[in-house]
Formats: sequence, C-alpha cells, structure tokens
Amino acid sequence: MTSNNYILAVKSASLFGLVLLSACGGASSSGNLTAVVPEGTTVQLALLSTTDLHQNVLGYNYYALAADTSLGMDRTATLISAARTENPNNLLLDDGDVIQGTLLGDFQTAAQPIVCSATLAIHKVMNLLKFDGGSLGNHEFNYGLPFLSQVLNTDLGIAGIFKPGNCGAPNFPTVVTNVNSVSSQQPILKPYALIPKTFAARGPNGEALSVALKVAILGFVPPQIMDWDQKNLAGKVYVNGVVESAARYVPEARAQGADMVVALSHGGLDASDYSPKMENGSYHLSKVAGIDALLVGHSHLIFPRGKEIGAAPLDSALAALSASNVDGINGFVNGVPTVMAQSWGRRLGIIKMTLAFQGGKWTVQTSKTTVESRGFKYTDGTTLVATDPTIAAAIAPEHAATIAYAQQPLGVATDFQMSAYFSLVGDVSAIQIVNQAQVAYVKSFISTSSDATLASYKNIPVLSCSAPFKAGRNGPTDFTDVAPGATAGAPVPLQVRNPGDLYLYSNNNIQAVKIKGVDLKNWLETSANQFAQIDPTRTTEQDLVPSYSTIYNYDVFYAENNALKYQIDVTKPVGARIANLTYNDIAVAPDADFIVATNDYRANGGGNFPGINGSKTILKSPDANQSVVAAYIPKLGKVTRSVNGAASSWSFVKVATAGPVVLRSTPGKLASAQAVGLNRVVSQGDTDTSGYAKYRIDLSQ
Ligand code: MN
Ligand code: MG
Repeated sequence: MTSNNYILAVKSASLFGLVLLSACGGASSSGNLTAVVPEGTTVQLALLSTTDLHQNVLGYNYYALAADTSLGMDRTATLISAARTENPNNLLLDDGDVIQGTLLGDFQTAAQPIVCSATLAIHKVMNLLKFDGGSLGNHEFNYGLPFLSQVLNTDLGIAGIFKPGNCGAPNFPTVVTNVNSVSSQQPILKPYALIPKTFAARGPNGEALSVALKVAILGFVPPQIMDWDQKNLAGKVYVNGVVESAARYVPEARAQGADMVVALSHGGLDASDYSPKMENGSYHLSKVAGIDALLVGHSHLIFPRGKEIGAAPLDSALAALSASNVDGINGFVNGVPTVMAQSWGRRLGIIKMTLAFQGGKWTVQTSKTTVESRGFKYTDGTTLVATDPTIAAAIAPEHAATIAYAQQPLGVATDFQMSAYFSLVGDVSAIQIVNQAQVAYVKSFISTSSDATLASYKNIPVLSCSAPFKAGRNGPTDFTDVAPGATAGAPVPLQVRNPGDLYLYSNNNIQAVKIKGVDLKNWLETSANQFAQIDPTRTTEQDLVPSYSTIYNYDVFYAENNALKYQIDVTKPVGARIANLTYNDIAVAPDADFIVATNDYRANGGGNFPGINGSKTILKSPDANQSVVAAYIPKLGKVTRSVNGAASSWSFVKVATAGPVVLRSTPGKLASAQAVGLNRVVSQGDTDTSGYAKYRIDLSQ
C-alpha cells in the first residue's frame, strides 16, 4: 500500500478539519480516520481540459478590432466554473499550443517579447483559473528555446540557454515526455508530474471518505517540431515517438506512486499504422498500458461529437475512424476515455470518471465514465454562457496595449476587401498580396546574393505559394477579412493588425525551394486533397470541402503577371486532379526548373508534400513571412484589386452536377463573392448547427 492511499474517513461537514496522515503513518483506524482505503471505495472526479488556446484570452478579434463571442478564455472560465460546481473533485489541465496566436500573442512573443519579470497574458489567466497542470504543443517552440525557458521560468537542460530566475511563469507543473536535450539526454521539462489531490469519496458502505490521490500527467508533442521549428531546435533537442516515450515513463510514474495516469497528447487521432514519426499519435497512445485518460488536441477538432453537433460535416477525419475502436459519440478510443476541446477556448473537455479501489489500486470504471466536449451554448443549444469579468480585468493593460499596437498605420490604403470567405472556390483577394511579397523577397534575395550557387539561379522562374490560413478552421468567424468596407472610390487605410490577418503564423520564416515541374504538379495535387471527390450524378448535397482541419495545407500558387495557371478537377480521385498546368501558356514540363517561395514549415516537410522535405531548400531567410508582408505592403504606395487581388491562378475544371454542391463559410458574405466576380458562388443556403452558412457552388461556372 503506497502512501497515496491513506485516507481520512470523515463526516462531510468536517472536511475543513482534515489532517491528512503522513506517508509514514501506517496508523489503522483512529476515531473517524481510516489509514487505508477500504476495498470497494469509489471516487468520482472530472478531468477538465483545454487545448490549443493560442493566446485567445478574451472573446476578441484583434485583426477586426471587434468582439467575437464564440471564443476566448473569458467564456471558457465560465465553463470551468460550472464544471467545477458540478464536479467538486476535479483537475484542470491544458494540452499545449498556448503561447502563439492572436495579435496579443504576436505582440507579447514577437513584436515586443515580454521581459523576464512579466507573465504572458495567457499564463496570467491560467494561473488565475488555478490550472493543475499542462503540457506543450508544437507552437511553444516557435519563439525559440531561450524564450520558452523564460516564460516557463525553467532550466531546459540545454547549454547556453537562459538560466531561470524569477521570471513570470505558470504556477502549475508543465511537463513534456518526448522532447529531450541533446546535451543532457533528458527531457527538457519533467517527463511527468504527480499532482496530489484530495477527493471526496464513498466507502464500500456509502460512507463519506476523503482520499488522497496522486494523478500523473505526461505530455507529448508531434515529432515534426524538429522540421517545423528546425531553426530553433536543430542540434539542441531531439524528439522520441509518443508510444516509446509513454512506454518509458508511464511505468516510472506508476512506480513513483501514481494512482491514475493522464496523457496530455498534443496530437490528433490517426488510426493508421504507428510510426515514431507520427504527427497525430494519440490513437496509439490509447493502447499503452497504464494510461487511464487521454486529453488530446492539435487538430482543433471536437471529440467526441456527442449529440450536440448532430451530423455536422466538418469531422470526416474523425468519423472515418469509427471502425477502428474509436467511439466518437461517447468519447472512447480503444476503451480509454478521450476528449478534444477544439481550440481557442471554444470548448472545455470534461471526462467524468468513476474510479474504484480494487485489489489495492484505483481502476477506471468505464461504464461509469462519460466524456463531453462542452461548448459555450451547452445549456440549451442557443444561450451563450456569460463571460467571467475577472479575466478581462486581469489583463486589461495587455489588451489595451495590443489594441494600440494593432491600430498603428501602415501608411497605405487598399481599394478592395481582402477576404478568405471564398478562397476555396477561387478568390485570391487575401492570398495574392502575400504571394507577391514572397516573390519579391526571394527574387531580391537571389539577385543580391553573394553566394555563387544562389546567384546562378537568377534566371529560374520564381513562384510563390501561400494558403488561406484563416478559412474556417476554428469556426465560422475564423476567416481573414481585411478592409471589408473598401471600395475603389474610398480606399481604407491599412494598419499593423492587417498583415497578421493575411498571414496568421508570425513564427513562420520565409524559405525557398528549387523544384522540378513534376514536383510542382505533385505539390498542387497534395493541395487539392482538401477537396472532396464530387460525384456529378449525385442528386443529394455534397460538401466541396469536407473538413477545414488542415486548411493551412491548401497552397495557392502564383507567379508574376499571373504566368502560372492550373485547374482542379474535383470529380477525379486524389492524386489525379490537376489539369492544364501552364507557365507562360506553355504546359509545364516534368523537368522544368522552378523556385518556390514558401515558409519553413512547408519547406521542411510540413503537410507531407511529396519530395518537399528539406532536401530542396536553397534559401533559409531569417525573416518572418508575416514581417515580409508587413514590409512589402507600404512600399506599394497603394493596394488595388487590379494589381494585388484579382489574379486567380487557378479555377475548377467545369462540371455540371445533378445535385447541390456547397461550401461552408461565414453567413452573410455573398457580396464578397460577387465583388470578386465569382459567379460560381450562386446563393447562400441554410446555416448548419456549427454556424457556417452553406453557399451553393455551381461548378459549371
Ligand atoms: Mn494548435
Ligand atoms: Mg498544434
């Protein structure tokens, strides 16, 4: 019997008088104290999970300078409070991707990185909400290891990295199990933490008891951080597979006295065969012995879907797993309770579990365990929970400073709306200027390079690609929309906040790859995987884009003078959709040379584009794509639709369909499609249960 199983058996009313027995107690019954948990004792507790908060502290969109009631910790706080009232035995845990995202995040991490004595706004709020523990996501590595060390106030065990002092930091344990220091060969944070909790319990005869449990948390990040943040991590850390890491540390945590083990897995659910390089390895973690619950993330999806969303379409990736021991209604993966709380504070994962003390250890009672990914309208489906006003009060100065930063003028105006509402059906109004900035940067870099190899590339055509990063992934309000009121007659001045809306990821650095025509074709084919295969004969509704979970992999290509053109045939299967690929009106030959301006995520293999794996990279810039866009726009003097937003490089191969084809986007945006002349967007139809409007798309246009 380990010390953690000593208990006090008390009357509920005397809980405040508890004195827990020490580990060396060994006392038997004494009055209403019982030293040892009786067989058959049960405890009900709730694991509360946030994930992928991405610095969404308030329900506020700094790009639009407007409230957004669909996200933000100020409402998550209300969900947390309610869940704690319902479940007095609880732990609140976070799954990573905390410090990056929103203009508030960019401001505190990149534009004016906080000093040691300050605490990131998101960490302030997590401390206020008394989180019990957390782990890391891939985005925690975006600003380098010294900054991560600072904001966690933790020695990462890496030579030359910041030495912790009294820096502002989370005041709860942060763990990571599969990221190791090259120099120390040890995890850069604690690989697990044992969180001591005292819970009300019921003895075998129904008596009120108070039990002390040690809850172990472990944390896992995608091994791909080595590719995605190579600039920050190469030579300093290495990453082990999630299953190997769990197999190493779950038994150790158990041996150290863990009564239950919770895996905080910053990875989604992918039931394909396990590989140590797997990005979304949570499915396989569920099969590691000794893990009692899985709090997962990274995909920004909702799991389980439960009954709240009904048959909403944007979950095909998870629905397809139903045959693989994944219960997407009740929230079990190979029998392990599992929850994913979407992103941006929109949801709170709640695993209500019953543990029974049997055979000297605590065992999860699966039949008495329920899982819910609870949203802001959980009470009746329509009423929004209120904000917790203490959250806004806690970060009022940071909020005000971010708004002031957001409104600084860029010194240039646009005569058109740059939006991503219809970027999946051909609108490039929010993408072309990013591509133009990237082409200009890479051409200049090559033409002024003192490197002989780079200079020798000066006659190779430079293309650029960029994706609609904000195109519905995080809900119906998550779309780029710069200068919505702009018209040719009354241009709208652009501000500092706009480049972040056009290029979301402030951490991406610009890179260029040198590829062949065949690589370009394969790249475009992989981008086109975002589309469903449309059956022209089907009479029932078909979603053109069935999931937005990886919409950042929809690369749209561009060349100066719109010299690159291609079409996508959505009636064809994956891998056979690109048609009429031309450069200067000549079919692109498989062995033609191109240089492509992109970001380090893609150049290093992000998104698994064939052959784009770091081996073709010719240029690694220290400059962020977002900064390059921000620097490019003012130099234009003016931003106009004709020069910066009307050159669509791609279109669909036209096809008439027997039934309706729909694209989900923000309601009320038909005029944005019409302004671009996108007549394939015919009309706005119903709004789905998630709040997206279903726009009818005519693919024969
Ligand atoms: Mn994320
Ligand atoms: Mg992530």
